[in-house]
Amino acid sequence: MKINYCLPIIKEKTTEILRIISDNQNYDFFEIWLDYIKDLKIDFIENLEKQFGQKIIYLFRRKNLENPKMSFEKRKKIMDIISESSCFLDLDISQKQDLKYLKLKSKKINLILSYHNYSQTPDNEKLKKIVKSMNQHKPEIYKISALCKSDNDAMRLIDLLTKLKEQKIKCIILGMGAKGVITRIAGAILEQEINYAPLTPNNKSADGQLTKAQLEKILKNVRICYFMADPVEHSLSPQMHEAGYKELGIEKDFIFFRHLVKSKDLKKFIEDVKKNPYFRGASISIPHKIEIIKYLDKIDAVAQKIGAVNTIVNEKGILTGYNTDVIGAITALEKKTNIKNKLVAIIGAGGAARAIVYGLFKKGARIKIFNRSLEKAKKLAEEFGCKYGNLNSLEEISKMDIIINATPVGMNEDKSPIDKKLINKDHLVFDAVYTPYQTRLIKDAKQKGARVILGREMLLYQGTAQFELFTNRKAPIEAMRKALI
Ligand code: NAP
Repeated sequence: MKINYCLPIIKEKTTEILRIISDNQNYDFFEIWLDYIKDLKIDFIENLEKQFGQKIIYLFRRKNLENPKMSFEKRKKIMDIISESSCFLDLDISQKQDLKYLKLKSKKINLILSYHNYSQTPDNEKLKKIVKSMNQHKPEIYKISALCKSDNDAMRLIDLLTKLKEQKIKCIILGMGAKGVITRIAGAILEQEINYAPLTPNNKSADGQLTKAQLEKILKNVRICYFMADPVEHSLSPQMHEAGYKELGIEKDFIFFRHLVKSKDLKKFIEDVKKNPYFRGASISIPHKIEIIKYLDKIDAVAQKIGAVNTIVNEKGILTGYNTDVIGAITALEKKTNIKNKLVAIIGAGGAARAIVYGLFKKGARIKIFNRSLEKAKKLAEEFGCKYGNLNSLEEISKMDIIINATPVGMNEDKSPIDKKLINKDHLVFDAVYTPYQTRLIKDAKQKGARVILGREMLLYQGTAQFELFTNRKAPIEAMRKALI
């Protein structure tokens, strides 16, 4: 893993700049803020290129930070020299005059095209548009730097970095401000093109930068965890785990990212994470929970019995699969009722249903599985000695104690898997679906006076169990719950 460090240099004298560069040859890049230099001569730029070539990044003052001081005539001359060199030029998309000049003159230049926002992190749609608008300039490297006002802003920037990396776009994505620090660590781990890291906190060129020593110290201990699925955008796991890290003060020891992995890339993902020294574990979701088993080194007995893995943990390159959906569902249920001997209707026979049926079976519930495809219901029922039926025979659930939805019906849609008339006030209704916060099934159940368990309760407890496997620390349940509201 190669981490490219860049030393920002904002100095007035060229001799000072040369001294800093020669004293710090352990840096990969030097970013030189040209219009701060008082004794700047063209031959300084020519000599730097000869000596350090691709290690040098130039930039001019940006309007959105400070008014440019250098005349356009002088900037043109400098751009001409840089365009014949292997040095980089960092231009902000607001520096239209300079960009236009490069385009008109068809100057071939190692361009870092930047977008800076010192007041906020734009929403995801705007970020997408910004990247798209940058395409026309065909930059060598895309750079987006925005003020993070919340942890969510930082997570969105990290998501953007992973997406651009997936598309093999060379990029630098930075969060400014205290809330953006995490993006500096993530950027290094995810091997973004350049990591800006001053020598001391006093030499920062942007708020939120860590010094090289700070970043190196963090990177020695930091471990990363993923939410790995396809799709990943909807996942609430990163915010839940990050809230837990924060509560325990271990937010610099662990980072949690979303990681989109297509089914065809699952094997490669496993090969890659086994070699990744930072990789601690992953929360696994649709569609990989079953398929992943064959690539793991060990499977815990519970996950083996269920036939699905929702968590993997890395111990020195040995990957073990666990299933925390069981504990998630059963803990959520046991907070409301005693399960033993209860009559339970479970709708669905997929991965989540398998985990829930296993947990209920262990607790002595009397279970009937209802599923769209009867064959799948039959297979699961036979494994655990339960009854089964199809979705046309749901009437009998009105006489049962607990109703559980373990299908995706209701996810991001106003639909329920069962008719409202089948629910009554004596029921305990549990929906595994966690988006929206309250599904149609939950709303119907509340209207009928039934007690309910939201999908987020299961999500919370499967997540806290994962958290404990990843960190070997007791999960701060309330802080993690708050992150899900
Ligand atoms: P899965 O393995 O793909 O299984 C889906 C099940 O739902 C199958 O039995 C399928 O029936 C059934 N189904 C799918 N679409 C249906 C429809 N339109 N009508 C009726 N039945 C339908 O998925 P999963 O992993 O079990 O996940 C199921 C849901 O639980 C998802 O919404 C997931 O987000 C949620 N979940 C929540 C948590 C949590 O922590 N809250 C944890 C895990 C899962 P067939 O067999 O006929 O295809």
